[in-house]
Amino acid sequence: MKRNHRKYFGNFGGAFVPELLMAPLNELDEGRKYFLNLPSFKKQLQDLLENFAGRPTSLTAATSFSKAIKGPRIFLKREDLLHTGAHKINNALGQCLLAKEMGKTRIVAETGAGQHGLATATTCAKLGLECHIYMGEVDIQRQLVNVQKMRLLGASVHSVSSGDKTLKEAVNESMRDWAHHYETTHYCLGSALGPYPYPQMVIDFHKIIGIEAKRQLKKMAGQDPSAVVACVGGGSNAMGIFHPFIKDNQVALIGVEAGGRGIKANEHAARFQGGSPGVLHGSYTYLLQDKWGQIQHTHSISAGLDYPAISPALSDLYEKKRAHFFAVEDHEVIETFDLFSKTEGIIPALESTHALAYMKREAKRFKKTDVVLVNLSGRGDKDLETLFKLRKYV
Ligand SMILES: *Cc1c(COP(=O)(O)O)cnc(C)c1O
Repeated sequence: MKRNHRKYFGNFGGAFVPELLMAPLNELDEGRKYFLNLPSFKKQLQDLLENFAGRPTSLTAATSFSKAIKGPRIFLKREDLLHTGAHKINNALGQCLLAKEMGKTRIVAETGAGQHGLATATTCAKLGLECHIYMGEVDIQRQLVNVQKMRLLGASVHSVSSGDKTLKEAVNESMRDWAHHYETTHYCLGSALGPYPYPQMVIDFHKIIGIEAKRQLKKMAGQDPSAVVACVGGGSNAMGIFHPFIKDNQVALIGVEAGGRGIKANEHAARFQGGSPGVLHGSYTYLLQDKWGQIQHTHSISAGLDYPAISPALSDLYEKKRAHFFAVEDHEVIETFDLFSKTEGIIPALESTHALAYMKREAKRFKKTDVVLVNLSGRGDKDLETLFKLRKYV
């Protein structure tokens, strides 16, 4: 088979979709190539990122946490400070502005925990676009506050009741809607996943995280980091912060996946621990699947990391050994959440806490003088109920 290498990250990626989706994907690719290089588009997006979302985000030295874990010098990239509380708004603003410039009036998006749905609904309200969010029936029950927020922002939230009634099915429904309405509609996909050109486009909207952090770190620490650490769900915050460092081979790139209740089938979401390559949602990448190719169930304390596939861009960095991946388990995340909140005065998202828990467990791998950049992808307000239910807090 002759491959169109433009659509791949090494051996991974591509666009394995039904014929019906080829026209909208090609149109999107053309649109993105035209508008993303246009000075007027860049100016509008920059204005939204700075004056609506709150960029550039701060870089904070985590001195007390570093001391408590006897670790290296840790610097936090503060994506938790962005509007709606996580990095996801970078991508939502980029894609929805692109859609608007392309003449679309209607946006569809999938959401699991509701964070991407919230970022998309917020962006649609700001840009005056009609917004439809697909969400699994189970997730709607688990994340009622985010559903209420999305409705308040004017979005229609549609319950998906096929299969497991969670994120995977919500993605299927969004693609189906898009295939039937693409003349008016854009599908705003929430991570560096899916068929080409989505992974590349999503990385392009998040690479600002790494570009800012590299500049800020030079100023604060006087050097580049020896390692960059990020949690990995689909891979958008990780690819965003890794991006400007990929060519610097002396900078270690470390992704932290959800080890859940341990690396046993159906109990975790660590694709590089128990997974193998296959196709899901239009992309060839590492997945959690059984020997018949059926997608496995996943589990993580953090909804944002609870997905069976990973970005094809990260599968490529993994195979080339340019990035290394570790899994941390739920109980390590809960311990680190407490310690980090108390020492740094920042309540981190459970997703981001995976990166911090890796630092706590593996502190000895680093020299005290090493500089480590950690992506604090989001804030933890949304997770307090999950933690209350675990009876950890009264
Ligand atoms: C959604 C989410 C993630 C996981 O998504 P990626 O695409 O892997 O970045 C991580 N952190 C937070 C705070 C999130 O909301």
